[in-house]
Amino acid sequence: MRRIFIKAISLFMILLFITGCQNKIENKNNSVITEGENMHGYKINDDSMLYWLGHDGFKIKTNDKIIYIDPFDINESETADIVLITHAHFDHCSIKDLQKIVGDKTTILATADCTSSFAGKIGGKMQLVAPNKKFNVQGIEIETVPAYNVNKFRSPGVVFHPKENEWVGYIINVSGTRVYHSGDTDFIPEMKNIKTDIALLPVSGTYVMTPNEAAEACSAINPKVAIPMHYNKIVGTIESAEEFKRLSKCKVEII
Ligand SMILES: [Zn+2]
Repeated sequence: MRRIFIKAISLFMILLFITGCQNKIENKNNSVITEGENMHGYKINDDSMLYWLGHDGFKIKTNDKIIYIDPFDINESETADIVLITHAHFDHCSIKDLQKIVGDKTTILATADCTSSFAGKIGGKMQLVAPNKKFNVQGIEIETVPAYNVNKFRSPGVVFHPKENEWVGYIINVSGTRVYHSGDTDFIPEMKNIKTDIALLPVSGTYVMTPNEAAEACSAINPKVAIPMHYNKIVGTIESAEEFKRLSKCKVEII
């Protein structure tokens, strides 16, 4: 009887060990990392991390650069080397948030209608952008791509993000890994030509792609991983992100 008991205990210990190992492997392969309560990060590569700051806001940290994209309603104080702004809407081009992170040496890439609203109110160096341009900012290669609506209307025939406004998305070369931030956009034909490793895509609907449209966009872009954005603030919920993940043929990580 005692021998059987010892055998059972041994078997249980072995099983526990195997399951423990599997958990460790799973954790090692998972690139989504939680640092503190509100800091959800994604490991871009050995040199760089991507943090979602809510809505369309992200922070990329490399060994020696801090890059923010569309900072809005952020709780950050780390000074930016580079800030990328996709368009003039208040939840992307936010003076109050830029004042938290812009220093004298910060370079701000933004559309002309955005920069005109904050001229004289913040420091840093301005670089005007429009779609289909290439920049080298402090050694970082950055490309702009178009971002606009095709079927999200403010009033009959008038979309929220008109193509003629020349608003943008960005592709950033982060230590060899390409990160695409689409800006506020629908699924547009230009996406078929985008080459990227990571795609940050809006999923809330109303002003931008619905989860289903974002899933179609993801299939066209074919990144290694897609990360949903534009939810949990103003419009959209975590359900929008989860629906995108469910419908998508791409690998999706929710951070
Ligand atoms: Zn917008």
